[in-house]
Amino acid sequence: METLQLYYQDPNMREFTAQVIGCEPTEGGYWVVLDQTAFYPEGGGQACDLGTLNEIPVLDVQERDERIVHLCQAPLVVGSTVEGRIQWERRFDLMQQHTGEHIISGIIHRLFGYSNCGFHVGDHVMEVDFDGPIDPETLAKIEWEANEAVWQDIPLKCWIPSPEELPSVRYRTKRELPWPVRIVEVPGYDSCACCGVHVSTTGQVGLIKILSCVKFHQGIRMELVCGQRALDYMRRVYEQNRLVSQTFSAQILETADAAKRISEQLAAEKFRASGLQKRLNTAIAAQYASRGNVLHFEPDLTSAGVRELADAIASVCGGWAAVYSGDDESGYGLCIITTQGDLRPLGAEATKALNGRGGGKPNCFQGSFKTTRAEIEQFFKA
Ligand SMILES: [Zn+2]
Repeated sequence: METLQLYYQDPNMREFTAQVIGCEPTEGGYWVVLDQTAFYPEGGGQACDLGTLNEIPVLDVQERDERIVHLCQAPLVVGSTVEGRIQWERRFDLMQQHTGEHIISGIIHRLFGYSNCGFHVGDHVMEVDFDGPIDPETLAKIEWEANEAVWQDIPLKCWIPSPEELPSVRYRTKRELPWPVRIVEVPGYDSCACCGVHVSTTGQVGLIKILSCVKFHQGIRMELVCGQRALDYMRRVYEQNRLVSQTFSAQILETADAAKRISEQLAAEKFRASGLQKRLNTAIAAQYASRGNVLHFEPDLTSAGVRELADAIASVCGGWAAVYSGDDESGYGLCIITTQGDLRPLGAEATKALNGRGGGKPNCFQGSFKTTRAEIEQFFKA
């Protein structure tokens, strides 16, 4: 590696000075090469660092041909000395996620021999895939054990074994690797070939929280969050639950029971209301028996309710039944039903005259109209 990797020497370095040894224009900026850098380039499942070089924003960092290249918004003079500053909050968050993932993966590997076969740190949560199933009860135990590793505040060991040492070092890897292999060890929990940057001790990972686990290919996909993300996520979940608890007047740890009870009550009420509406429809329809064509307004019906009432009236009136529900401000829902003839010409005419849209079959037209009750009555009178 031609660029000295300061992030390996000191993963806590936030500011550094370096010499510019290359600067070339590219799409969207300039690729800048330094003699040394604390900017971690994208790799090993970990996103690159962002920050500034002499106050110029660094938009991307990649490893290319044995060099680390920084995509800068403006050019830097080759041969000059620059001050680098990395966005520490972003880097620390990424390190918390990555080390947390190693702890979880190490425990799962020890318990089941499964490999971590996919790793992605998203904007909000991290996704980790494993090549075998895990039941929910064991998952809770794994989460607990991972947090025990945090509480012990164990120093991490990142090292490159000598060629002679390497064969006797046990570590997780996706494939056979040639020397040199960088090992990231969480003593007692994990040993893994990894090029990422990590926190110094497990205590810095903070809370490790598994959010979900679903079947994925032959194994599982787990969503988890660590550290500041975990705290932020759990705060938001707690706030949601606090509001639910207030709304339902339920204890904060009994909101699920309350929500279930209310949901069951709501279903029962809906069933009861639909029975009452049916009886009401029959009573309204009886007023129109053998009256021929009928125009009827009824407040507060759903589109299904409008149709049911139109159906009830059409079955007794001996002509077509047009039922409207709504108000002049938000518009009206309409359903026209007939037991004989073709309603499509009437529907098309109403749509045109009353600023509406809709459609249907010969015996049933349904639509919505942005108009007033007076205009509707005028139209049907005509
Ligand atoms: Zn790693």
